Amino acid sequence: MGTFERIVILTGAGLSAESGLGTFRDEDGLWTKYDLADVATPEGFARNPALVQDFYNQRRRGAAAASPNAGHAALARLEKEYPGDVLTVTQNIDPLHEAAGTERLIHMHGELLQALCALCGDRHRWTEDITAELACPACAEIGGLRPDVVWFGEMPYHMERIYAALAACDLFVSIGTSGTVYPAAGFVAEARQAGAHTVELNLEPSDGVSMFHEVIHGPATEVVPAYVERLLSG
Ligand code: NAD
Repeated sequence: MGTFERIVILTGAGLSAESGLGTFRDEDGLWTKYDLADVATPEGFARNPALVQDFYNQRRRGAAAASPNAGHAALARLEKEYPGDVLTVTQNIDPLHEAAGTERLIHMHGELLQALCALCGDRHRWTEDITAELACPACAEIGGLRPDVVWFGEMPYHMERIYAALAACDLFVSIGTSGTVYPAAGFVAEARQAGAHTVELNLEPSDGVSMFHEVIHGPATEVVPAYVERLLSG
């Protein structure tokens, strides 16, 4: 398989599915139980903050109790052992990449285990429930804390760094993502324009499957370690 100098990996909910964390759009996914407009938009939060906090408090407890799987572990190994540059960009808000040891990581949709104060903008690591009675550790105001996650209609984080990495990469690998949520769904096109080889690893063909040079379908705990092994053995 040729050698690549700069690899960008994009991950989505499918990578964490086998760690027991629900995906959003699969048949029994979270969006079949909750309305996206209620729990993942600023308008939903303004309408019913308690419902939204409760939704993320449940997700936070689930994420704190989950362990990384063989897919996360393989990506951490790739970062450590690959002679070229590896950047992992995740849409996941769970902490499983870092728990597996990945260090060059961008959480483009924020992090469940972090609270953002909407009043002063400060961020704090947060492993407990967030409630309306809590005071921000920085400004001491009550009621401004929210999960530091990017809702629909909000700007994903670190986009400049991500687009710069995509423009310079020669391999782009998309893992466990349905290819429906932009801007992440557009990354494959950016990478192709930069001349990169593009690979999809997913349980089933994603919405953007035709954009990839190579597609490997199967569960992440199988296809990701196998693909990483291929990259590491040159
Ligand atoms: P998605 O739910 O839209 O798509 C998940 C994809 O993963 C599907 O294409 C599905 O076929 C595939 N998949 C399911 N099980 C798999 C497995 N075992 N192995 C490999 N692939 C598998 O998820 P997405 O594309 O990441 O959606 C984007 C949004 O969902 C993001 O905003 C993200 O923040 C959010 N999200 C995050 C988490 C998390 O942090 N763990 C969980 C759910 C949703």
